[in-house]
Formats: sequence, C-alpha cells, structure tokens
Amino acid sequence: MKDRNFLDTVMEFEQQLELMQKQFEVLKNSVASMMEEHQALQMDNHHLRTRLEKVLASNESIEIQEKPDRTKKELFDIGEGYDNLARLYQEGYHVCSLNFGSSRKGEECLFCLTFFDKKGEKQNG
Ligand SMILES: [Zn+2]
Repeated sequence: MKDRNFLDTVMEFEQQLELMQKQFEVLKNSVASMMEEHQALQMDNHHLRTRLEKVLASNESIEIQEKPDRTKKELFDIGEGYDNLARLYQEGYHVCSLNFGSSRKGEECLFCLTFFDKKGEKQNG
C-alpha cells in the first residue's frame, strides 16, 4: 500500500511538472510579444517626438512672424501716428493700449485722453 501511494505521488508530480512547463511556455510567449510591442512603442514614441519638435518649431516661427502686439506698440512709438490716433479717437475708437481699436460707444476714455496728454506734453516741451 505504501509503495502504491508513493507511485501515485510521483505520477501526480510529473503531471504537475508537465502543466507547469506548458504554463511556462505560455508565459515565455507573452513576454516575447510584450518585448516586441515595447520595441514598436519605443520607435513610435521616437517618431512622434521628432514630428512634435518639428511642429513646435514651425509654430514658433509663425508666432514670431505674426507678433500681434508689436504693431500696436509701433503705432504708439511713431510720432507721426499721433494725428492718425487723434483722428481715430475723434471717430469714436479707443487708442489706449487697453481697448485699442474697439468702439468707445460715444463715451470719453480716460486712458485714451491720458495718452494724448502725455504726447502733448512731449511735443510742447
Ligand atoms: Zn480708451
């Protein structure tokens, strides 16, 4: 009886080993496919980074070309623009940096008037 039990135990152990070997094979295959996927993702990542850098670089050059605030400041810097700005203000538009170019809606703007005062002082002195 004792030997019979021992033989059963050995056979059971063998079956377990076979099962573990099959499981190990499955695990090995999934590790292999994960490594392949990892490598593919790394390559994708590299390509996307390169493209992103190119896109960002071209966006920066567009921003430099447009510079929307620069034209406003240049208008204030040019002395000849004073008459044009005065006319623009008379026509009912803001010439102050806060609301430049938008309608005054018939109201006087303290910021616009301050700008004219400063310019007048400069021209007289
Ligand atoms: Zn204004």
